[in-house]
Amino acid sequence: MTGTHRRPLILGNWKMNTSLQSAVKLTARASAIANAHPDVDVGILPPAVWVVPLSLQTQQLEPSRLSLGAQNVSPHANGAFTGDLSMTMLVSWCDYILVGHSERRQHHSETDEVVRAKLDAVLATECIPVLAVGEAEDERESGHARSVVERQLDGALTGRPATELSRIVVAYEPVWAIGTGKSASAADAQEMALVIREWLARQDSEAARSVRILYGGSMKPDNASGILANPDVDGGLIGGASLDADDFQKIVEAASPATTGS
Ligand code: PEP
Repeated sequence: MTGTHRRPLILGNWKMNTSLQSAVKLTARASAIANAHPDVDVGILPPAVWVVPLSLQTQQLEPSRLSLGAQNVSPHANGAFTGDLSMTMLVSWCDYILVGHSERRQHHSETDEVVRAKLDAVLATECIPVLAVGEAEDERESGHARSVVERQLDGALTGRPATELSRIVVAYEPVWAIGTGKSASAADAQEMALVIREWLARQDSEAARSVRILYGGSMKPDNASGILANPDVDGGLIGGASLDADDFQKIVEAASPATTGS
């Protein structure tokens, strides 16, 4: 189901890493990488406390092509939710909002229902939601990878109009590959990206053609080209390797049609 040009997208998920000083340095490098590759959309998702200073920094690096985003958001607009941040607070500073990362599902008991409510909050703004889905190791081993991902898509996306579906990015992130150094094979990444695109096509064929599907899970310079060459993988959500500017640069290069000649 190719045919529509989808711009490659590489997002760095910094998780709970960096000091303000190292974040500023990494952002300057990420901005230079983004500017050197105009055929790739490049963004970073720093810890939320750095989003405002880094946004101000990129405005000073004008013109910077680097996008910024948050790793999480509350489904609520405001109120007695200690420690949470709402879209009202993030919207002016973020282009992308990650929703449903497996570390949130696992450590913060986020259910499909909560993930859906968070998506609602993001879709009520002009930010782009990045919905993370993916199966755990035992689910893959027992042959349930497809049904788990389809259940997560059902929970977050069923019943949404094409106008909403076409605004999202989906990240396929097998849980067993995140932070483990054990990535999915290029063939498995393509197979699951196609599962996601076919699920989307059952909702709306036009949205299925335009939605960008990322792979995430131990993507590194040495496996990026193989995974990114797949017809249904449109980019990557990069954890560990996004904290090393040289590695991040190599992954962006691997995603760039100008570099790869694709
Ligand atoms: C992630 O955090 O989404 C991720 C893919 O991490 P890593 O690249 O470190 O596996």
